[in-house]
Parts: sequence; C-alpha cells; structure tokens
Amino acid sequence: MNASLSFLQELGIQAHNAGTWIGGTSFDHSERITSSSPVDGGVIASVSISTPEQYDRAVAAAHEAFLEWRTVPAPKRGEIVRQYGNLLRQHKEALGALVSYEMGKSLAEGQGEVQEMIDICDYAVGLSRQLAGLTLKSERPDHFMMEQWHPIGVVGVISAFNFPVAVWAWNACLAWVCGDSVVWKASEKVPLCAVACQILWNRVAAQNNVPAGLSSIVTGGVEIGVRLSEDNRIPVVSATGSTRMGREVGQKVAARFGRSILELGGNNAIIVTPTADLKMTVTAAVFGAVGTAGQRCTSTRRLIIHESIFDKVIEAIKSAYAQLRIGSPLLAENHVGPLIDEAAVAMYLSALDAVDAAGGTFHLRGGKLEGAEYASGCYVKPSIAEVQNDWSIVQHETFAPLLYVMKYRELDEAVAFQNNVPQGLSSAIMTGSMQEANRFLSACGSDCGIANVNIGTSGAEIGGAFGGEKETGGGRESGSDSWKAYMRRQTNTLNYGNALPLAQGIVFNI
Ligand code: NAD
Repeated sequence: MNASLSFLQELGIQAHNAGTWIGGTSFDHSERITSSSPVDGGVIASVSISTPEQYDRAVAAAHEAFLEWRTVPAPKRGEIVRQYGNLLRQHKEALGALVSYEMGKSLAEGQGEVQEMIDICDYAVGLSRQLAGLTLKSERPDHFMMEQWHPIGVVGVISAFNFPVAVWAWNACLAWVCGDSVVWKASEKVPLCAVACQILWNRVAAQNNVPAGLSSIVTGGVEIGVRLSEDNRIPVVSATGSTRMGREVGQKVAARFGRSILELGGNNAIIVTPTADLKMTVTAAVFGAVGTAGQRCTSTRRLIIHESIFDKVIEAIKSAYAQLRIGSPLLAENHVGPLIDEAAVAMYLSALDAVDAAGGTFHLRGGKLEGAEYASGCYVKPSIAEVQNDWSIVQHETFAPLLYVMKYRELDEAVAFQNNVPQGLSSAIMTGSMQEANRFLSACGSDCGIANVNIGTSGAEIGGAFGGEKETGGGRESGSDSWKAYMRRQTNTLNYGNALPLAQGIVFNI
C-alpha cells in the first residue's frame, strides 16, 4: 500500500482488508481481490472475497437486524442516518480522494460523489418523518380504509464501478429510514470504496448501538451477485450496472417473486435545435461526452443536430475538444482521466473499429494514449463520429468517450432518433423555442426516465426520482416517491360498527 496516500489511513484502509463485514465484525479469507488504480497503475490494497459461508452469515445477520430495526420509530432511524451524513462531511475529502484514485474520476467528481451521499442522508432524514400512506373512503357504513407502508426486510444492493459510493448510499439511506437492513455487494473493480464506507458507518453504529447486521458488505464478482439474486431471504434487490447484468438479475429475482430495482445502461442523446444557445450546447455536450471519461450511465452518447447548424456545432465542439487536457484526474487542470481498466480501453478501440466498418466518418478519431503520464495503460483520447442512428454499434452503449453525431430536419424525426434505441435513461433538448421544449417533454416526446431542457443528459439531483425505461430497467431510486420500492404496502379496512356488511353489496345470511 502506498503510505503517501494519507486518505487511506484516515479511512481505516489497510494493506490487506477483510471483504465481509457484518457491522463492525469482519471476516477475512485467503482468496483476494487486489485493487489497483487506473490513475497510475499502482496497487492500492487487497480485499478478501466472501466465502459462501461468510455470505450466508451476512444475510442471516441482516435478517436478524431487520427484525429489531423495524420496531425503531422511523424518525429515530433518520437520526442515525443524520449522524452518518455528518461523519461523511468530516471525511468528504478523504473518501472523495479514494473514489478518484480507485475509480479514476476527477477529484472534483470524487468529492461530488461524496456530496451526493451527504445530500441523500439529509433527504432520508426528512423522509423519515414523511413515510405517509393514504386514507380512503369505504363503500360500507361505519368502515374506514387506509394504506400503510411497512418495512420490507433485507435489501440487497449490487453496484457498478463508476459510482463506487453514491449508488449504495442512495439505496442504503432510504432503506434504513424505511426500516430495512442492507447487504451490499460492490463492484469488484472498486472494493476499497465499499470497505471505507462500511468502516465509517461502523463508527456511527457503535455510538448508537444499532443491530450489527443493519449494514453488511460482501465482496466478490458475479458469483456473489448471483447468490444475492437467488436468495429468498432478500425481498428487494437493487442492481446497478449493465443491461446484460440486469437481465440476469431481474429474471432470477422475478423467478422467486422478489422485487428488483434495476438501474442499467443508457444511450443518451441531446437534440440541438436551430434556436439552441451554442455556448450552452457545447458545454452540455462536451461535459456529457467526456466527463468521467464517458463512464457515466447518463453520459452523452449521441448528438442529434439540426442540419442547418450542423457544421457550426461540430466546429465549436471540435475546438472545445482541442482544449481538453487528458491526464491524472488527481490534478485539477486535467479534464479527462483514465478508463477503469485496460479491458475498457480494448472495448473502446473495438467500438472505433466497428464505427469504421459500418461506414462512419470520424470528425475526431481518438485512441489509446502512450507515454509516461499514461503508464497505467488506461488513458484514451476521445472521439467524435458521424453515424446513422440505426447502426448496431450506435444502438449499443459504449462506456467510453465516443460521441456520435447525426443530422435531422424535423423535430419529430429528431425525437424518433432519440427514442429509437433499446435504452431509455436520459435525454435533453437545447432550444430557445417554448413549443419545441414542451413537445419534447410531452407524451409524444422523449421516452426516457429523465428528459431535460437546456441542460445536458449527464448528472442528476437527488430530489427527483432517478432511473430509466426499456433496457435501462424501469427502476427508480433517490427522490420523489422512490422510497416506496423499499417498503411493503398494506391496505387496512376497519369496521367500527356493529354489523358486518359485505363489499359489492353481497348478502350472506346465516
Ligand atoms: P456490470 O454489469 O459489469 O457490473 C455491475 C455489478 O453487477 C458488479 O457488482 C458486478 O459484479 C455485478 N454483476 C455482474 N454480472 C452479474 C450477474 N450475472 N449477477 C449478479 N451480479 C452481477 O457493470 P459495470 O461495468 O460495473 O458498470 C457499468 C454499467 O453500469 C454501464 O452499463 C452503466 O450505464 C451502468 N450504470 C447504470 C446506472 C443507472 O443508474 N442506470 C448507474 C451507474 C452505472
């Protein structure tokens, strides 16, 4: 472990870390994942893989914790989450640095991710006093109806590499205030971030004497994720990652009548209309396409540009790309950091070849960067390619800084391009026209879970429900009424009269 990385010490990360944690109790094992940084290729530390027995123990403890936690008043549950938010505030810089170093996003984005955790803690605290049900009018005399929301049980969280800490917090903080316990399987590409979050949680848990299994982590690859998907003890599985993964998890969870919250791949587009503000468009498109090196689920993959302004927009974007500095994301002057690993670089290069083979025209052809600064082998130069929307390569999500551009004539045609992909996460229109903006947001407009006007596709605030349609999975997390996915609904009918009238006027004389 690199001793100069002081944030690791602050977060309690050792050279060798246990990968199974039931609250503050950890379980080690000889089989390990070594986490190395895409920033400089340096080995950071190792984390043990959870054995089947360790996994079983974690889920059993989570169920036991749930039985106790569900009886704690919701605002008291919120109080614990409030304390976790405050602890995150104290360690924001250190945890943000670990996110940047282990995943490769910029320091500002790493800190931003921790800020998102803090924000969801605050949101969950407020929510803990607002888990409200309905009252309903009964058709029967002297009867009263209502809906209650009860805690549901153990929530399993499977998360992707690109948001190593925020996605877990979105799920965990809501689940906790809802009265559930949480078992987290983080991405095997960023296991240290999960260990750090758990260690910080343990400090709050110890001070408040909460049941141990309220927060557990299990570590490993696909096999642990499969175990979680098939586990009858876990009524809700929230899975964030590729559509391929979501298809497998969704089917396994459905087969046992569990509930899944699926947050999967996107293929997000910005429509650029003739009245679009050029400066805003360039900022939205460039940040959307190259921010986090194109490794956000909401990254801008496609620009659908009106033919009358196509050349002007492409020139402006190309000149912005020319100013991009690619290098260590730990240096504030760099705009673009590395991809997560060399396999991601190979995937990017093969996508460029596929664009070539399909007959695409590169306005800018990137590739792998070589040299001392790029010694980890994970740095690439971004690309812009003119393509047709229905090409197979364009229909797929390429998780890298590859921006497709295409022309349109009529708005309806642009909206059809935007919608004619299998994914349905994020979308945007840049326009000065109120009619165009509202048409895009109407039932005949964007078919995505997120549709924006005059901002890009990338990034979202925690107050809104986050998620997408079609192959993005249909799940919603974070704000609005997303909390309902972490609870079970119960309809109650109370008779305060002395007779027993039946519903639908049925008479049953005995
Ligand atoms: P991935 O699908 O390879 O892995 C995600 C997680 O799923 C990992 O923890 C992995 O171990 C686990 N997993 C993989 N196969 C599994 C299986 N068959 N059963 C159970 N678990 C399994 O994804 P990734 O490369 O880590 O992340 C990138 C993808 O995630 C992109 O497609 C991106 O769009 C998507 N993503 C979506 C959102 C969203 O909110 N919609 C957010 C972040 C990332």
